[in-house]
Amino acid sequence: MFNKILSVTTFISSGCLAPLAAFAHPDAHSIADTALKQPAKIVDCTLENGESAKCAAYTVRFLPETLEIGPFCPATLDETGGVWDWDGENAGLYRIDRAYLEMLSGLGYTFFNDDGEVNVFDIRIEGPEADNECIAGSLDTNADMSITALIPVSPQMAQSPTPLGTVSKIGMGLDGVPVFADAPSVLETGHMPALDTCGGHVDPGGWYHWHATATDIDTVFEKENVDATCAHVKQDQTAQFGYAFDGFALFGSREADGTLPVGLDDCGGHVGPVAGQEGEVYHYHASESFPNLPTCLVGVVAQDNFTTTAAQGIGSANGNGGPGGGRPDFSEPAKALGIEPSDLMNAIRAEGGRDADLGKVAERLGISKDALEAAMPGRRP
Ligand SMILES: [Zn+2]
Ligand SMILES: [Zn+2]
Repeated sequence: MFNKILSVTTFISSGCLAPLAAFAHPDAHSIADTALKQPAKIVDCTLENGESAKCAAYTVRFLPETLEIGPFCPATLDETGGVWDWDGENAGLYRIDRAYLEMLSGLGYTFFNDDGEVNVFDIRIEGPEADNECIAGSLDTNADMSITALIPVSPQMAQSPTPLGTVSKIGMGLDGVPVFADAPSVLETGHMPALDTCGGHVDPGGWYHWHATATDIDTVFEKENVDATCAHVKQDQTAQFGYAFDGFALFGSREADGTLPVGLDDCGGHVGPVAGQEGEVYHYHASESFPNLPTCLVGVVAQDNFTTTAAQGIGSANGNGGPGGGRPDFSEPAKALGIEPSDLMNAIRAEGGRDADLGKVAERLGISKDALEAAMPGRRP
């Protein structure tokens, strides 16, 4: 049923004269020109279900020219940094300040020294020295650096929704900034990949990305009583934020008329009218709690839909994880080993996380250490 609705609406939205927000499905005009490193184009792509399709290809820089970012990690306890969604005891979204860091210290996670200086490392160029460090990332301002996202032009519903785990790829903002699911937990790595108050930070590859619906994040701060505001991105609860990698649009927490959306599915989307477009289309809404992003994708994404020329990090030829190794993605090695990514991740976690002895992990999984090492080339034995 959805496919029928979608093919009609895609046809209607394929003109180039309507304003940006009118497109509920991506085309070559969907991402802001100022964000693009080269003109967007429609290319042939293959969907995850094996079907051939057309995708919009957006190639962007490490950061849109006009976007200001930060602060992330405060330098001392007397300064205030960005925000972090703490998932241990007293879980919640916090402003990174003295009260928060002292609370964490009381729970055994001390991110500062006796002089009140916060432990910080730059995940692009170095690793952590202490057990608990705030992660900052410097931008890769290399002029050749680029990120390319492929998003299906005519979205298709998948047989079943795809869950979005830690650092799963969600989509791209209209501002040309990639959007990901949860950043890695402090409980997993010991380190805190601080977000700025618009919900973004820098990947080990040196490019900025969102972990929240930046255009509607103040709603979350208000709901969750967090003393923060997003100063760098215009807030609008009804605006389109971007596109998910399945081609469906991401909107703020409200409908165009200001009402709360009704009948949202488990992923946070529904079929309904959107501004500037005739008929009804599937679209996602931001939630009012952090992270205010879809929790799964209902549509089919394109294969190899996210690549970068960065030396490391998500989407790079070297796979994932910078020197800090804070962002594991086990899907490729698990595929090579013929096991479930979650089993691989759990086995590594059970053996101590990123410092795990691969021999012990292999034993736990009932596979050979050689096979495991071969499947995880980016990892130090
Ligand atoms: Zn991130
Ligand atoms: Zn809606």
